[in-house]
Amino acid sequence: MKVAKFGGSSVANAEQFRKVANIVTADPERKFVVVSAPGKRFKEDTKMTDLLILLAKKVIEEDVYEGVLAQVVARYDEIVTDLGLPRDILDVISSNLQQIIDTYADQPERLMDALKASGEDNNAKLMAHYLRHLGHEAHYVNPKDAGIFVTDEPGNAQILPQSYEQIAKLKERSGILVIPGFFGYSLSGHVVTFPRGGSDITGSIIAAGVHATLYENFTDVDSIYCVNPSIVENPCQLRELTYREMRELSYAGFSVFHDEALQPVYKLGIPVCVKNTNNPDAPGTFIVATRDHRHQPVAGIASDTGFCSINISKYLMNREIGFGRRLLQILEDEGISYEHTPSGIDNMSVILREEQLAGDVERRVLERIEKELQVDEVSIERDLALIMVVGEGMERSVGIAAKATAAFARANINIEMINQGSSEVSMMFGVKADAVERAVRALYEVYF
Ligand code: ASP
Repeated sequence: MKVAKFGGSSVANAEQFRKVANIVTADPERKFVVVSAPGKRFKEDTKMTDLLILLAKKVIEEDVYEGVLAQVVARYDEIVTDLGLPRDILDVISSNLQQIIDTYADQPERLMDALKASGEDNNAKLMAHYLRHLGHEAHYVNPKDAGIFVTDEPGNAQILPQSYEQIAKLKERSGILVIPGFFGYSLSGHVVTFPRGGSDITGSIIAAGVHATLYENFTDVDSIYCVNPSIVENPCQLRELTYREMRELSYAGFSVFHDEALQPVYKLGIPVCVKNTNNPDAPGTFIVATRDHRHQPVAGIASDTGFCSINISKYLMNREIGFGRRLLQILEDEGISYEHTPSGIDNMSVILREEQLAGDVERRVLERIEKELQVDEVSIERDLALIMVVGEGMERSVGIAAKATAAFARANINIEMINQGSSEVSMMFGVKADAVERAVRALYEVYF
């Protein structure tokens, strides 16, 4: 049995719904279907989830929200009309939205999560409806009914381990089961969403729960590329990647697959196949436990901007027991998560996402570091980009780092930071954000 997850662009309009129905019904093993909310129909379009976030904000701010609500319903109306479905499903959708607004009007966090989740929820109802309309046995399954129970962290849910036992029971049901992505239920019965892009997580959870033979992740590209195609024209396509490689690449800006989505399938060794809804015959990219990397030690290059580095120096820092802990405690107190901590004898840097220092946070953090740690110097270096060179084969290959540093030198790019973990599955370079595209192209040249 396979789990097929369809991302936002795959379910953005009626034409895409038809493609999805063809794909699902072409293979009787595709029993579990997970859908996103309608995504963009064209480049400047707004995703349903963003529209719903806007709607929630209007309700919270007691602003006029009816116009946005009408826009939300209109998007489903367009799909219903184009597919020639009976219009009563639209009443179900409208009353569901109104009910959420009425129930949670004075609970902003709950309202936000419930409205965000409704994007996938109503789309799943619509997809099941359409499959039945075509004469197939299909059922919408609400995540509570499926057994997807999560931690009660609005917008940041994590699956609770006891869910899997109940999810396994879905195998006993008949027909195609259509499950909305992106959310689960807390034990107290509230809708709680995963982080953005989290429908991938739902698909993975279902695949793990039912012990699927394959988790197919349908999107709008033929395969995963070894580098961002908006930086390098026509880059090579990857046939196979390991879980660890995919995890590293998606962490550093490969938006094709959510970086938290691998964990459930990884544990059970269920392969993932990233495929194109618009070209389902293309083989796609398989994400598997091991691959033969003899001929291609490097699997991909990823990059992301928006980082900064807090640089701290203090004479004899290396002798001061507990310095690192106290520094990180300050960040923890502010709810800041950090990415890396490269260090020298008398200096230490903390690399983090720049947005976390917005408002007054930066001043507070710097003041505390100065006062409580009695440092000689503390400063912030902004506009950094991180580049990851990823590949399981690097562990056994000599000269991979040399190639990168030589490429940077030839392109006249200064390396701000280098980091390699003990797993040797990735190598990270920090460069100035304005040099990142040149740097990625230089690396592509040497590795591919
Ligand atoms: N619709 C949600 C988002 O846009 C989740 C998803 O599509 O995976 O983030």
